[in-house]
Amino acid sequence: MPAQKPLIGVTLDAEPGAPGAFSRFPYYALRQHYLDAITHAGGIPVALGHHPNHAEALMARLDGLVITGGAFDLDPALYGEEPHPQTTPKPQRTTAERALLRAALARDLPILGICGGMQLLAVAFGGTLIQHIPDTHPNALPHEQPNPRDEPGHTIAITPGTHLATMTHATTMRVNSSHHQAVRTPGTLRISAHAPDGIIEAVEHPKHPFRLGVQWHPEFLIDPADRNIFASLVETARSTA
Ligand code: MN
Repeated sequence: MPAQKPLIGVTLDAEPGAPGAFSRFPYYALRQHYLDAITHAGGIPVALGHHPNHAEALMARLDGLVITGGAFDLDPALYGEEPHPQTTPKPQRTTAERALLRAALARDLPILGICGGMQLLAVAFGGTLIQHIPDTHPNALPHEQPNPRDEPGHTIAITPGTHLATMTHATTMRVNSSHHQAVRTPGTLRISAHAPDGIIEAVEHPKHPFRLGVQWHPEFLIDPADRNIFASLVETARSTA
């Protein structure tokens, strides 16, 4: 019997609209890479709008969830802090993504959090964030890399024995870096990769085979191991479908 292709939900970004932008009216947006990476791995991506009331019905039909990144930050109230001046939340998006995450967790579905999605995952498991890396870690690498995002910005070291190590067959990776915040403490998740400066670059659930957050953007497929992450996501989604 041929295996069905699993349906992987992918959260959209939202912009208010402005003259000269895609529309003068509010619109959803996402780089095509995210959906293409899932397609190439054998899944069917399904773009998700921001309707928290749909979260349970959606996750009842989907086989996995990718929480994407964007040029915004989580509301620090979610981890008990006051906002830094450079912290810029998108409350409606976060409300929708938290509802989707809750529903995916309740169904034990595989979850990949990318960049801001990793930060949301960590906070959902009791973690906290660094609100602005240059303030608290002045000697950190440039995690807002100056070179284009389709090139690596720094390396990461993968923690041996983690799910990330198993699925990538790698001990190091070259990754891009497009974040001014980072996970400070992972809550009940465990750390599965660091940058050379100590910044946390991946977290995962120790028990579940695929609840992974990565601080870089694997959808650019810069390192060969990036493909292994999407392959593992789709494989886990297929086995739970
Ligand atoms: Mn980084």
